[in-house]
Amino acid sequence: MIDSRELDLVKDVLDSGVLVHGPQIEEFEQRFRSFTGSQFAVGVSSCTAGLHMIWLALGLGPGDEVIVSSQTHVASAHSIELVGAKPVFVDSDSSTGNLDIGEIENLISSRTRAILVVHYLGTPVDMERVTEIGERYNLKIVEDCALALGAKFGGQHVGTFGTAASFSFYPAKHITSAEGGMVTTQFPEVERKIRSLRAFGYQAKDEMDRGRGMYDVVDLGMNYRMSEIHAAIGNAQLDKLPNFLETRKRNYESYVANVSEHLSDFGFTFLEQPSDSDFISSHYAFVLLFDKVHGLRQTELRSSLTAKGIGSSVYYPHPVPNLTYYAEKYGQNKSFPNASRISYTGIALPLGPHVTKKDVGEIIFSIKEIASTLGELE
Ligand SMILES: *Cc1c(COP(=O)(O)O)cnc(C)c1O
Repeated sequence: MIDSRELDLVKDVLDSGVLVHGPQIEEFEQRFRSFTGSQFAVGVSSCTAGLHMIWLALGLGPGDEVIVSSQTHVASAHSIELVGAKPVFVDSDSSTGNLDIGEIENLISSRTRAILVVHYLGTPVDMERVTEIGERYNLKIVEDCALALGAKFGGQHVGTFGTAASFSFYPAKHITSAEGGMVTTQFPEVERKIRSLRAFGYQAKDEMDRGRGMYDVVDLGMNYRMSEIHAAIGNAQLDKLPNFLETRKRNYESYVANVSEHLSDFGFTFLEQPSDSDFISSHYAFVLLFDKVHGLRQTELRSSLTAKGIGSSVYYPHPVPNLTYYAEKYGQNKSFPNASRISYTGIALPLGPHVTKKDVGEIIFSIKEIASTLGELE
């Protein structure tokens, strides 16, 4: 969904000669603040970089534990590992795929410092319940909003509930900057720390010194900045975001209607993405579940769809604790049945702004055709 708007803005940046620390990143941060209603926003090189810096800003390290969803991108858990802390995985809620809030308290130990909430598929987590648990046990709440730009809980944009949050602008997300991310926070001290950490821990005495390249270094920072080129692409995409979100909602509703009409008799179900006043999903993908459809396998379903020219994906291919790095490090002494069901008997169908209502109908018709042949195959 890139057109002349992105190309023009990128060309302007290249012509200007200001490739970092310029007006595009300032505009992107300012517009992101007003879109989300967040107090502060800091543009960074990726969502993963943002999460990494959030843990550093909160002072997490070896000996600390963070409760995190098992059904998420590995980046959520990796960010915790990167500071030497330990991710403690919680299974998913079977209807939405979000973390099972009822299980959180069983996993809290004397080492638990935070809960990392992932708004899976853009479906907002019930932040009232999570915040209540956080307050009762004195835990920080951090939000992974990589799939949730546009999602709201109780009328309030996600990423504004916890201590800090991180968004992603990787190409497959709601909007892109090629690579990129944004940290939001309501706390000025967290904002200052993230700004410092994203650029080596630089601290300039004043604007004059900054301009002259004079600085002191106060933190062990990284280079996690977002360039002007990336920010320019982000700004062009922000213009399109309201339309993108509308199309996603329309396509999601179209999937629900089509699946109910054509696929429920075969046993197909799907992950729910409520869109009422309290839970507004940003509809990242439509996840069809086929654990009750006898004889259907994920790889075969996906290759049959590919043969018909229909792309699909799996969010995510394994519960994170089942990935080799985590399984070898922490063992597999706990099972994650709901997260596993999504990974192994689910398929994510496209509903992004490139998908039309007609496409949705054809995709569901194709799946019906594939399901209809199952009896004959056996
Ligand atoms: C994509 C994704 C990330 C990683 O985002 P990057 O910007 O690529 O670092 C983190 N968490 C979730 C839930 C994601 O889907």
